[in-house]
Amino acid sequence: MSRVYNFSAGPAVLPESVLKEAAEEMLDYRGTGMSVMEMSHRSKAFDDIIKEAEKDIRELMGIPDNYKVLFLQGGASLMFSMVPLNLKKNGVADYIITGQWAKKAYKEAGRFIKANAVASSEDKTFTYIPDCSDLPISEDADYVYICENNTIYGTKYKTLPNTKGKTLVADVSSCFLSEPIDVSKYGIVYGGVQKNVGPAGVVIAIIREDLIPEEDLEGVPTMLQFKTQADAGSLYNTPPCYGIYICGKVFKWLKAQGGLEAIKKKNEEKAKILYDFLDQSELFKGTVVKEDRSLMNVPFVTGDKDLDAKFVAEAKEAGLENLKGHRTVGGMRASIYNAMPKEGVEKLVEFMKEFEAKNK
Ligand SMILES: *Cc1c(COP(=O)(O)O)cnc(C)c1O
Repeated sequence: MSRVYNFSAGPAVLPESVLKEAAEEMLDYRGTGMSVMEMSHRSKAFDDIIKEAEKDIRELMGIPDNYKVLFLQGGASLMFSMVPLNLKKNGVADYIITGQWAKKAYKEAGRFIKANAVASSEDKTFTYIPDCSDLPISEDADYVYICENNTIYGTKYKTLPNTKGKTLVADVSSCFLSEPIDVSKYGIVYGGVQKNVGPAGVVIAIIREDLIPEEDLEGVPTMLQFKTQADAGSLYNTPPCYGIYICGKVFKWLKAQGGLEAIKKKNEEKAKILYDFLDQSELFKGTVVKEDRSLMNVPFVTGDKDLDAKFVAEAKEAGLENLKGHRTVGGMRASIYNAMPKEGVEKLVEFMKEFEAKNK
């Protein structure tokens, strides 16, 4: 067996120890005589799994007691509708457009409420984060929405926008658990886990309790109401059991790494190796303004389409997989999530050096 260095943007690399543990428990989960895939979501064994997972993520992120942690389905994309449907009071919200995911969320919200784009970096292909210190926030905005790390473009907010007292909602799919955050600054923090936390099929939504409607929302499907999911402790119906189980293992792994402060340090070290190389390279160029660079997704180009394609193909042969940039951007993108070992980034840079020497 040989594993490659997988730079996929998502679904993405998971810690090897987590996969091994899951493999060991596959046929007989801790004496139950069955796999987690085969057991009732109402069983004691699964109850322990989901409760332990919630406890661990609360500890890792320091989630205050007045926030619910929900394990949901439907991908990050379903949250694009769940957020406006549940937070709608005045029926107005402000969106900051920093990439395709923010734009999709904005467009989806527009189906249910009046969504305003109050800032955008589309003028420069989303290569920067707009100045969000004094935005024209709507007086009656129910919330302000951001995509905190832009998976496709490789930008990240280094400071949160000034929402002028309005509730902040953030999609953190591609920077989830990559560094500590102050949850109390957000009304909702949510992410699809398949980027940095677990297998596809689970969305974790951390929601301040006062934002969960107390009454049934007329016209809103039962499954899409935060209240339904919160009241049932994410077990209104069958949740994505196996995915939650793997997320739980990743939380344990993160704790064993020393928690989010320690993980942030590692992520900074890894990203520095790649960015430092890009900054002095004569062939490769990072596409994002320095101040807004993501620690997780690193897009770069040679400036020559054919050479980009050659690079991706040759990298694959060298065991460096999924380096092709998003189809809307081109070039390359290395996603270096929590589970990407430092050696993977070092190997990549080594390979880039060799490629540069041969193709100057
Ligand atoms: C991948 C991604 C999404 C979409 O996730 P799905 O789970 O496929 O709906 C949304 N937002 C961000 C930031 C992403 O990276």
